Amino acid sequence: MSGQVLVLNTGSSSIKYRLIDMGTRRAVGGGLVERIGEDESVLTHDGVRTERRVADHEEGLKAMLAAFAEHGPPLDGVTAVGHRVVHGGSRFVTPVLIDDAVERAIEEMAPLAPLHNPANLEGIRVARRAFPGLPHVAVFDTAFHSTIPPHAHTYAVPREWTRKLGVRRYGFHGTSTAYVSRRAAALLGRPYDEVNSIVLHLGNGASATAVRAGRSVDTSMGITPLAGLVMGTRSGDVDPALGAYLGRVAGMDLAGVDAALNKESGLLGMCGANDMREVFRLADSGDEDARLALDVYGYRVRAYIGAYCAALEGDVDALVFTGGVGENSPRVRALATAGLARLGIEIDPGRNTAESAEARVVSPEGAEVAVLVVPTDEELEIAEQTAACLGDA
Ligand code: ADP
Repeated sequence: MSGQVLVLNTGSSSIKYRLIDMGTRRAVGGGLVERIGEDESVLTHDGVRTERRVADHEEGLKAMLAAFAEHGPPLDGVTAVGHRVVHGGSRFVTPVLIDDAVERAIEEMAPLAPLHNPANLEGIRVARRAFPGLPHVAVFDTAFHSTIPPHAHTYAVPREWTRKLGVRRYGFHGTSTAYVSRRAAALLGRPYDEVNSIVLHLGNGASATAVRAGRSVDTSMGITPLAGLVMGTRSGDVDPALGAYLGRVAGMDLAGVDAALNKESGLLGMCGANDMREVFRLADSGDEDARLALDVYGYRVRAYIGAYCAALEGDVDALVFTGGVGENSPRVRALATAGLARLGIEIDPGRNTAESAEARVVSPEGAEVAVLVVPTDEELEIAEQTAACLGDA
């Protein structure tokens, strides 16, 4: 497909947008509308920041259109709009051309992702009104994980929950993981469907995924993005009986526990900071809580690497770091791989600390497992999947 794809990632109070030229596969414009609904919303368009009140997503999209009209680039080359949608449930395992029925299906999946899907849907509705003549495609975060086999996606719970209520592991960060695992294979100079990798997407949210021959075979997030690794504000794995215990001893209700595990836990809960740079600063100044938080974070990542080495039957070609933390923090990469030499996983200190924004190898020459840093680009991946969906239609 030639032309340009406008990629929209709509959150509950933000719209992130990127205009991608499909000829060059490069972003030619983009920005972010933040704090929608608050008194002082912020629009940052191609790095230029303006403050104004943006009451809702409809106004947010209008502000974006006005910014394109005023500062460029022109939008007349746009041939499609690609939308990030967090949860596709069991139904959407590939990108899909949006019509009213797809909108309704995304709406029906709101209970699975109450924080995300309603906002994504609002973005779709507003954008379909703003660009009625263009095809709109939904790209789902869960889709890449649709290849996870039943033994890895089934929870050991009453089967009626699984069959009637959609209870199972879905996984998230799929768009990012698909992108970086493909880039990793290219970096190794090997065909994508011959490479086994473990992808660590470490950002505010964090997940680990085992990719066998280019297909996801297990991932650390579950029916919601709360499970698995320690995150900025999310706990990751805890005993499932924790909610019942807190109900008994502290009178907390399930909604309160759910909110606390999502928003007040993780690094923030353990040491009062959710930005990894701040956690290191605290730890370096002697803060014991921050030191412990780093130990917990690193140990959890290593435990998942071990589990996924087993899931891949020991046949691991690459360990791939991505996301804001994974891409930018040599210290986290060192922490996450410490003591794993027997698994063939080692880091070269010089390579690990060398600054670069490019995809690169940070393991020693000739290492059994190539440890890679691959900057993710979810917007480019959404644009490509949008183009592929329309090409196949
Ligand atoms: P999201 O998951 O929201 O997409 P990102 O992937 O952009 O977030 O990751 C954001 C996080 O990356 C920040 O909270 C910060 O902790 C971390 N980060 C960014 N730069 C660095 C750095 N140089 N060192 C350590 N952590 C960093």
